Amino acid sequence: MLTYNVGVNRSLWRGSTPLPARRSITSSNSFDIAIIGAGFSGLWSAYHLKQLQPSLRIAIFEQNYVGFGASGRNGGWASAEYPTSNPRVIKEHGSTSFRDLRKALIESIDEIGQISTENNWQIEYAKGGALVFATNKAQLTRISREIDDEHRLLNQDQARKLLNVANITGGVFTPHCAALNPFKLTQSLASYLEAVGVEIYENSKVEEIFDRQVLVNGHKISCQLSIRATEAFTDRKWLANQQIPIYSLMVATERLPIEILNQIGNTQRATFQEACNLITYAQITGDNRLAIGGRGVRYKLFSHLSNRSELDNRMHSALERRAVKWFPQLQSVKFEYRWGGPVALTRRWQSYLNYNPITGQAAIGGYVGDGVTLSYLVAKTLAQMINGEEVANLPFINQRIGRWEPEPIRYLAVNAGFKATVAADFEERVTGRPSLIASLIDPLINR
Ligand SMILES: Cc1cc2nc3c(=O)[nH]c(=O)nc-3n(C[C@H](O)[C@H](O)[C@H](O)COP(=O)(O)OP(=O)(O)OC[C@H]3O[C@@H](n4cnc5c(N)ncnc54)[C@H](O)[C@@H]3O)c2cc1C
Repeated sequence: MLTYNVGVNRSLWRGSTPLPARRSITSSNSFDIAIIGAGFSGLWSAYHLKQLQPSLRIAIFEQNYVGFGASGRNGGWASAEYPTSNPRVIKEHGSTSFRDLRKALIESIDEIGQISTENNWQIEYAKGGALVFATNKAQLTRISREIDDEHRLLNQDQARKLLNVANITGGVFTPHCAALNPFKLTQSLASYLEAVGVEIYENSKVEEIFDRQVLVNGHKISCQLSIRATEAFTDRKWLANQQIPIYSLMVATERLPIEILNQIGNTQRATFQEACNLITYAQITGDNRLAIGGRGVRYKLFSHLSNRSELDNRMHSALERRAVKWFPQLQSVKFEYRWGGPVALTRRWQSYLNYNPITGQAAIGGYVGDGVTLSYLVAKTLAQMINGEEVANLPFINQRIGRWEPEPIRYLAVNAGFKATVAADFEERVTGRPSLIASLIDPLINR
């Protein structure tokens, strides 16, 4: 019997509609490219490779089903965010690399929209921008420091006009973000890929990766190149101590009545988040619900994935309370969905595209919570490299991934970091000034 990896996709996006069952691999075979994982990274890799070389024989092996992982469960923000901070990218890779990255991410948001429109994918894409709003003086002071060419400061009236949040004191807006339905994107991509000849195998777990060969459900698959696109679900033997799973949890309301939608405003479907130190994120979905997520679930010793982390009652209830605090009119509204999933965090918050043409192995990932657009860009860049094209010197290319501290130091440090972040938000509410605690932990977490 096959053993599936931990977790179930219980998301609003996945819903309960039965999915088309795909075959699993039942014999040895040979392909030009073997892709491991059918999330955005794996699917977009196949998409871009087929665009560049239509005759390639590509197979995708997925241990569960297409969109099972973070790609089918996330907040649906296709943003231009990058996990490592701007100053660090500039310091380590130079300002040209930073500018190229920024430009490529911004273009990628539009490309996802264009590809979806051209192919008539119904993914509820709306490029309404993103708003970070403040509800106290400290938050406003902190986000005001982040203004640049792409981010505009909004005063209280302007911010409230965009999104009618209780106690809003102002915000920062960027036009570079789209809201979308991520599970629908995985399904649309998969159907498209099958139509152009990519073979997708579900319930097909890759057990070993060798040079020019992978072992799937006990069958040998030879290939010119394998691409590991398994992100937070990566088997620990492939990334020992190099990344940890951090859970992000979400809740979604029932469909909101038109009066409540009118009170909330935001007809352009800008994605939004409060400027807390502990991350929150939300969107009004294509079917008129509020979907809100956040981090804060305790990290598990030895980086274990856990069903219980996806269903943390305390955290889900806190998200519901936060939603009602933002929009008191939601008091009487039902929250219909609760779910969660892991994001992958490398020690230095570093995303990676590692490609070795000599061994015929590639691996992509490490997006933390910014993988919707970034996985598209990383997969596209990888396809261009495989195709022998020259690519810009983007900061994720061929990076050495550092190791996390051994346990239990890692466990203690990561969870202390969460606690400190909660304390930083409390400190800001009380003092009205940007948190001292946050400024002390920032260099330690090395973002
Ligand atoms: C709750 C939540 C909210 C988020 N919100 C956002 C957001 O709003 N915006 C944003 O940009 N990012 C967000 N993210 C992050 C984003 O979803 C991910 O970065 C992105 O989806 C990663 O895509 P992926 O294809 O690399 O990984 P995944 O989608 O996780 O896919 C990896 C796949 O590999 C499969 N796999 C693993 N091992 C094997 C194996 N041995 N054999 C075969 N298959 C295997 C897994 O089953 C899985 O399906 C969020 C994540 C979560 C969990």
